Amino acid sequence: MIYDLHSHSTASDGVLEPAELVKRAHQMGVGVLALTDHDVLDGIAEASRAAAACGLVLVPGVEISVTWRRRVIHVLGLNVDVENPVLLQGLQTLTEKRHWRTAELGRRLEKLGIAGAHEGAARLTRGRIVSRTHFARYLVEQGHVRDFKAAFKRYLGQGKKAYVNCEWASLEDAVAWIREAGGQAVIAHPARYRLGRALFAELLEAFKAAGGEGMEVVSSSHSHQENLTMATFARQFDLLASAGSDFHEPTGNWAELGGTAALPGHCVPIWHDWELEEPIQQVSVLD
Ligand code: AMP
Ligand code: MN
Ligand code: MN
Ligand code: MN
Repeated sequence: MIYDLHSHSTASDGVLEPAELVKRAHQMGVGVLALTDHDVLDGIAEASRAAAACGLVLVPGVEISVTWRRRVIHVLGLNVDVENPVLLQGLQTLTEKRHWRTAELGRRLEKLGIAGAHEGAARLTRGRIVSRTHFARYLVEQGHVRDFKAAFKRYLGQGKKAYVNCEWASLEDAVAWIREAGGQAVIAHPARYRLGRALFAELLEAFKAAGGEGMEVVSSSHSHQENLTMATFARQFDLLASAGSDFHEPTGNWAELGGTAALPGHCVPIWHDWELEEPIQQVSVLD
């Protein structure tokens, strides 16, 4: 069974509609897929319907933007109740911060001689939030940069010319919202933060103290060696292990759905005690 517990749709910065995403995951042999859009749950209902139609298990999820020690950390919530008012209210505060951040990013780019980026990025979204990914796509489309990577390197990456600092959710709040909604909190792509050993250990301790349960040991944004290192940390800190592609789009810069390596053998998978309901497969008479 292939588990892919990290993916994005048009509800945030992915390019496939939730139903298209599920269909593609099914084609790629994924049996259990988590939709984890940035700071919104908007795609889950559509994805769940599509999953039921093709016999895939859809895990309702979210990827929450967190600021910890002035760094941005992403925390996944898996198996959350998408109607939980505490989670919805918490995510709403992030949506509002994003509105401010988007406008500010537009102003910075304007000062750098790139007009219309706010509107341009917003035009490229199909959901309620604008992310840096949309700005990157706009900058490529308008020929301001050669490619997606260059957009981050030159303008959008942390500390670069147009980067806007934003105070996202606290680590404690994000984990609390997820737990309120009955979900499990997982640190996304932990090897990406480049914290150094001591600070990384502090992050894991703080996360556990807040009620966090897992870390993404295997991620498409990790090297093979980083997967192994993260597996060791998971064991040392008694955290459950997750795996995800962080899929955003079928071509270019992103990994394919279901395309990540298996968890190293000594990991305890985050799904070890999940009771997955067999989806009821709707058989079309045309099949
Ligand atoms: P935001 O949450 O709006 O700040 O946007 C973050 C998103 O931008 C991430 O989820 C990635 O999809 C994308 N991203 C961030 N940094 C990079 C990078 N260096 N290269 C490519 N994509 C990036
Ligand atoms: Mn993203
Ligand atoms: Mn992320
Ligand atoms: Mn992601």
